[in-house]
Amino acid sequence: MTQEWDAGRLDSDLEGVGFDTLAVRAGQHRTPEGEHGEAMFFTSSYVFRTAADAAARFAGEVPGNVYSRYTNPTVRTFEERLAALEGAEQAVATASGMSAIMGVVMAFCSAGDHVLVSRSVFGSTISLFEKYLKRFGVQVDYVELSNVAGWGEACKPNTKMFFVESPSNPLAELVDIAALAEVAYAHGAKLVVDNCFCTPVLQKPLALGADIVVHSATKFIDGQGRCLGGVVAGSAKLMAEIVGFVRTVGPTMSPFNAWVFLKGLETLRIRMQAHCASAQQLAEWLEQQPGIEKVHYAGLPSHPQHELAKRQQRAFGAVVSFEVKGGKEGAWRFIDATRLLSITANLGDSKSTITHPSTTSHGRLSPEERAAAGIRDSLIRVAVGLEEVQDIQADLARGLAAL
Ligand SMILES: *Cc1c(COP(=O)(O)O)cnc(C)c1O
Repeated sequence: MTQEWDAGRLDSDLEGVGFDTLAVRAGQHRTPEGEHGEAMFFTSSYVFRTAADAAARFAGEVPGNVYSRYTNPTVRTFEERLAALEGAEQAVATASGMSAIMGVVMAFCSAGDHVLVSRSVFGSTISLFEKYLKRFGVQVDYVELSNVAGWGEACKPNTKMFFVESPSNPLAELVDIAALAEVAYAHGAKLVVDNCFCTPVLQKPLALGADIVVHSATKFIDGQGRCLGGVVAGSAKLMAEIVGFVRTVGPTMSPFNAWVFLKGLETLRIRMQAHCASAQQLAEWLEQQPGIEKVHYAGLPSHPQHELAKRQQRAFGAVVSFEVKGGKEGAWRFIDATRLLSITANLGDSKSTITHPSTTSHGRLSPEERAAAGIRDSLIRVAVGLEEVQDIQADLARGLAAL
């Protein structure tokens, strides 16, 4: 067995295959053992045959592994598979979704630069920009997600990056990604899309013109609430900077987590389809219930951006938010009356979860900031899992009865 061992027929020919086939097979490079499943490589470093071989690999003159902060075969398999699904030239895996976002920020932003961030992004993302990035002299402004013209108006000569999530959490607001990409391009800024809620099954931001996609793999890519992880994907040119930062600083994905996420990708499409079908059914049912004042779900014709969602996404996602009668008291009574759903803020799990955003994920915002973000005390968020939809509906009916 030599280093140049030819896997031959042991590796699949993936020329021209579809999304589901890539999800199952992309990125796998079998070892001489001929293992069918993806191998887990638990090793921090790699051995060389000679001193000269070591020197050549350290110098980057010959390809190969040196140390697992730089490359690990299991992690690389996950990176290649995710890149194939997002239509990216390259991806780099990270220890969490937040470290993926940090990698992008550290690669693209320097002191004196200006960045525009959607008002409706994940809470820790706002903290990263507000508490840390500003300390290093980066100017940050927040923009209403859906108002594409507003992004252009907020640009300055030093604007380097736009950062968005579409659809937003928890109110399912969208932005026209292709239109926003044009605005970013016109101002010389990079468009970064956090695609955690849609996954490449529902939406491919790079094909719509975004420069970079980031994920919290912790959510739907894992799909069963086990591991923390993240990933950044984009063109090889842009990824070079991000990979350099991640490999130097070390928010590295563990090979065990990479293996779990690989298995998650294999079932991602059928899971997303099931999540979305149940979420659609529950959103339609909730909208008919007398105790409900408003349902926020892009799959409903009552959603103001339903047409954009139909154009931009293959389905409408697994998160359904709704406002109940009776304000905070009503929302808490509703949540406490459920018996099946988990009271937890996580999402993208096979177990359905229920949460009260205004006192949990958005609890650290001031009342004015919450009002500006449209997070009312009567709002409940359900991340629809994979249980029988009738059972989830029966549990929500318990909540309604308690209002
Ligand atoms: C959870 C989440 C993150 C952060 O991911 P971690 O894996 O928890 O670090 C970022 N963006 C979105 C949209 C998320 O839901």
